Amino acid sequence: MSTSAPSSHDSLTWHQPWVDLGEAFATRVNPTPLNAPYWINRNTALLQDLDWPSQGLSSPDALLAFSGCALPLGAQPVATVYSGHQFGMWAGQLGDGRALSLGAVDSALGRQDIQLKGAGPTPYSRRGDGRAVLRSSIREYLCSEAMHGLGIATTRALCLTGSPQTVYREEMETAAVVTRVAPSFVRFGHFEHFAAQGQHAPLKILADHVMTQHLPECATRAAGGEHQGNVFAVLLQVVTEKTALMLAQWQAVGFCHGVMNTDNMSILGLTLDYGPFQFLDGFNPRHICNHSDTQGRYAYHRQPNVAYWNLYCLGQALAPLINNQDLTLAVLESYKTLFPQALDRAMALKLGLAETSAPGAHPECRALTDSLLTLLAKEQVDFTVFWRRLSQAVASASLEPDHPAWVQVRDLFLDRSAWADWQTLYAQALQNSDRAAAARTMLAHNPKYVLRNHLAEIAIRQAKLGDFSEVDKLLNLLQSPFDEHPTQEAYAQLPPDWASSIEISCSS
Ligand code: AMP
Ligand code: MG
Repeated sequence: MSTSAPSSHDSLTWHQPWVDLGEAFATRVNPTPLNAPYWINRNTALLQDLDWPSQGLSSPDALLAFSGCALPLGAQPVATVYSGHQFGMWAGQLGDGRALSLGAVDSALGRQDIQLKGAGPTPYSRRGDGRAVLRSSIREYLCSEAMHGLGIATTRALCLTGSPQTVYREEMETAAVVTRVAPSFVRFGHFEHFAAQGQHAPLKILADHVMTQHLPECATRAAGGEHQGNVFAVLLQVVTEKTALMLAQWQAVGFCHGVMNTDNMSILGLTLDYGPFQFLDGFNPRHICNHSDTQGRYAYHRQPNVAYWNLYCLGQALAPLINNQDLTLAVLESYKTLFPQALDRAMALKLGLAETSAPGAHPECRALTDSLLTLLAKEQVDFTVFWRRLSQAVASASLEPDHPAWVQVRDLFLDRSAWADWQTLYAQALQNSDRAAAARTMLAHNPKYVLRNHLAEIAIRQAKLGDFSEVDKLLNLLQSPFDEHPTQEAYAQLPPDWASSIEISCSS
């Protein structure tokens, strides 16, 4: 492992919070270089958000650093240890098997941990090769930025590098490295790890670290008397709130994560570890996006309950610190109110029925949403196209069912009378509202563009042939998914028939 010569990214000062925490948490390990690395994509928008030097991704040294072939000056790469529940079963020790934290760097978005995913084996790789294939790396790279564009909390992706080096999955593929960026990659599983070992000292060190560095509101809220001033109960409360919001946003946009194991849950409520995810095409609440999930544990409609189950695991892990079972259970119970509230709010925004001045929704909103989702499911209407056309119809300023914009919506339904019944109720609900404001809200909450499986698949096929232009095009489009992009209509169309035959598994 060489250390690269000073260059723009070497002007960054590296910290390594994991080393500072103590040796229980992480192991020093250098990336394993890949042959002949090349750029696949560089996310200049994120570079700007971070306010890092604009040349930071342009030098040959940057390519070496972000493909794991050379270390930036001052970086101290580590892999961290965690455990977790996978598919409902305790899986014991896991850990960063193919992710390395290079360290943390200050930015305009606050201090950010920089991870290389796919940079070689670590002490936690178990039987894995420590690599990530081009296919799944493109999916993670694009989707994390797409989620950010949708306003959903997520880890981000700074750049994507590849190598001709082969990696064997079901077939020979080639390797890639995603550079991920987040304030912290701490997972529920990090807490579960120390709790399962009965190691309460590192458990407390980790909780204190997360609160002081990332969730300062815990101390403030506890000092204000919340949860009897028990700061660890407040930590669980804050994570519960963030998770409830994230789940409501996933559901509202039709996002299926696919592998909601507790080791894939972020303590900061960030969408994390993009594997067999999918945005729904036709609305099917029972949709299972992960071909390996034979029981449908992580089907779309189960996600909110799985999040609660996962929070329960976190609650158990934090129990020795909270030291009050009733309090722990009371905090967990709050999810049952917080999630539906957040979902109601998200659906009210999608329907243009959110009161702008108050957090509550229009009173008829819940009933309208329920009947609509039942109808969308019965007809398997395309989720994204439906909401966007509905937004355009409201924007037309007419509530007349035969207005061309409303006909566009009606055309998505076979059962015209069921649609007409719902449309009548909806028109009544909109009657006294400021429809121009409602349309603006809807167009800002119902994306025109999402990373459908087939769009990612086309980009992947081209990338395998050495053409990365589609990755770039999708990245640009998905970073502003609510904008019209009139020249890119094709990306907003209904999926082709072959889209339903795409199978995405845990293999990545
Ligand atoms: P995932 O299902 O991707 O969240 O991975 C579960 C665990 O397996 C994590 O600890 C990963 O770091 C590890 N893992 C997954 N794929 C690999 C691989 N190719 N090499 C080493 N570890 C891996
Ligand atoms: Mg994972």
